[in-house]
Formats: sequence, structure tokens, C-alpha cells
Amino acid sequence: MHDLSCTGVTKTFGPFTAVSDVSLDVPSGSFFSILGPSGCGKTTLMRMIAGFETPTAGDIRIKGESVVAVPPNKRNVKMVFQHLALFPMMNVGENIAYGLRCRGDNRADIKRAVTRILERIGLPGSEEKRIDQLSGGQKQRIAIARCMVLEPDVLLLDEPLGALDLKLREHMKIELKLLQHQFETTFLYITHDQSEALVMSDQVAVMNAGRFEQIGPPKELYQAPVSGFVAGFVGDSNCLPGRIVEVRGSEAEVALDGGGAVVGHLSDASANGDEVEVFMRPEALQIGAVDGVPGLDGTVDSLLFNGANSRVLVKLATGQLIEVADPSQVDTAGEGSSVRISWFPDRARIFARRYG
Ligand code: ATP
Repeated sequence: MHDLSCTGVTKTFGPFTAVSDVSLDVPSGSFFSILGPSGCGKTTLMRMIAGFETPTAGDIRIKGESVVAVPPNKRNVKMVFQHLALFPMMNVGENIAYGLRCRGDNRADIKRAVTRILERIGLPGSEEKRIDQLSGGQKQRIAIARCMVLEPDVLLLDEPLGALDLKLREHMKIELKLLQHQFETTFLYITHDQSEALVMSDQVAVMNAGRFEQIGPPKELYQAPVSGFVAGFVGDSNCLPGRIVEVRGSEAEVALDGGGAVVGHLSDASANGDEVEVFMRPEALQIGAVDGVPGLDGTVDSLLFNGANSRVLVKLATGQLIEVADPSQVDTAGEGSSVRISWFPDRARIFARRYG
């Protein structure tokens, strides 16, 4: 059962296509993210689901019913905005009760619902607090509670962590996921931050220039990206431009622009002479030669200490810097020393070059 489905949804503004033939099925009770760079059409898609924009083509179904002709206030979806839109002149209880009052619920039911939801979000007894007395994280939870108290079929979240500082954002990622589990409500979350999408989601749709490039669980996107865009956008990747010189089954040798050659796994490019990009995760690389395994020579440019995410930056003869996450070398590789970077060919993915 899908709480939300989009089929062939398109939105044009004059000659410009903001969302192009997008289809998705969001399973009930799942955390589904739409991930993409600024301007790719995420908000436009979400506004169509909420009913603030009408699709130029395609269908949107909530719990199996088409809602394209249904006004926003008659759709059982709620939306949390980046700036939360809490009412500053009302206290916490009044903020949460607002939607229930508008719906015409009676006072006793409203009071019970507010008490219960505040308990569920871990802020029991805070009805009387003013909004300006809350921390950033508490405001987030109240904004979610204000929607969840109305028991929507789908909760839409439009970059709700964007306005928080980095530390709180890290914390809220986990908190949001736990809240979603607890409520068992379908969350549709939009973000340009790949780490938010990877940490929180059951499934992620990667969006680029109005289209979905790939939909899948975070691990699948990370380990088996279907395009250079996904490989570059989801997780850290080194990207080496070059040209295929020899295809060998599912692998190919690529002559890099500026010198050197690498062997990798063919993903979507397949012919000699194709212009390609080779994507390699920092953790797929190791420092030191490995028998029978391809490699590239370079010099250690610098060491970037960041705890478990520390990196060795290696400069290739082409001048390009490559990030290597080789824990055995992070403390020992001397800056300026000559090194060989090695990798297994199946961990270097070759995609057709699309940009320049
Ligand atoms: P961001 O992360 O920056 O919010 P986004 O991925 O949510 O970006 P959208 O806000 O959906 O992107 O915008 C997608 C494209 O559609 C942009 O180029 C934007 O300028 C354009 N667009 C959005 N709304 C309108 C409109 N009402 N009229 C014309 N163009 C629009």
C-alpha cells in the first residue's frame, strides 16, 4: 500500500519545465526523501503534492485517491516549513491546538490531544511555554507536533533543518527519524543535504534538473549509483575525467585527461573513445601498490585530520587532488612523499561525461 503516488507529474512555468515526468510510490509509514541541488524542482514537486501548485500533467494520489482536483485544505497532508511558521504570540499549547480548533473539535478533546502529543514528542507539560522560550530543537518538535496532532496521511517536510546550526542539525537528523518511527506516519522530506537524506531515509529519490535520476535505499544509491550525477552527489567521490581507450568486458581502461590511466567498472558508457568520468570513493582507495591492481602515482599534498573521517590528499601528476580515506596511512603518510594509490577496478565506476 502506498500513501503517496505520483505518476508522470510535470510542471511548466511558461517555457521552463521545473518538474519533468516524475513518478514515485511512497510506501505507507516510510521515510522518503527527495534529494537534489538547489533549483532542481524539489519544492515545486512538494507544492504540487500539498496542493499549492497544479501539475501541468500527471496524477498525484494520496491513499489511492487522485487529489489533483482537491484543494490544499481538503488533502490530508500537512507541511513543515524551513522557518517552521509557529505563531509567536501563541503559547505552545495554543500553537498545537490551532488546527484542531479550526477543524471544530471540542475543548476537552483538544486539551487531551495536546497533552498526549506533547508527551509523545518528549515535551510533556510545556503547554504554557512561550515560543521564544524554546530551543531550536524544541521549536522543531512543536512544529511537527502541530502537524501530527491532525493525523495527516503524509507529513511533508521542506528542508526543516536548514535554519539550524550544524551541531543541532546533526542531532535533529536522528531525532526526526526516531519521531517518524514512533508516529509510523509517512514522511516526505526534501533536502539538498545528502547526509541528511542518507541518515534518515528508508528510500531516497535523487532529483536533477526536474527529473529523478535514481530512487532507492540509501545504501543502494551509495554503492550502485546509476549515473555520474548520483555518484557525485550522494556521498564523497573523487571524479577523474578521461576517455575510454579499451573495453574489456564489464571493465575499461580510461586514459585520464592530462596523463595516466585507470581501470574501472563500466556503468553507462561503453565504447572506445567515449568521454567519461571515473568516480572513486575515498574509502575505496588505499595508499601503496597492490599486486595485479591498478594504481596512480602522486605525492602527498596534505593530511586532513577529522577523526574517523580523516583523509590523505594526494596530488596526481595532472595536478588533480584525490581524497584517500586509508586509516592505516592517515597518521603516517608524510607530506610531500611519493605514493601510489591503488584500488580494485570494481570500486571505480565509469560514467559517460555529461558536463564539459
Ligand atoms: P531550492 O532547494 O533552492 O529551494 P528547489 O529544488 O526546491 O530549490 P524549486 O523551488 O522547485 O527548486 O524551483 C525549480 C525551478 O523552478 C527553479 O529554476 C525556479 O526558479 C523555478 N520556479 C519555481 N517556481 C516558479 C514560478 N512560480 N515561476 C517561474 N519559475 C518558477
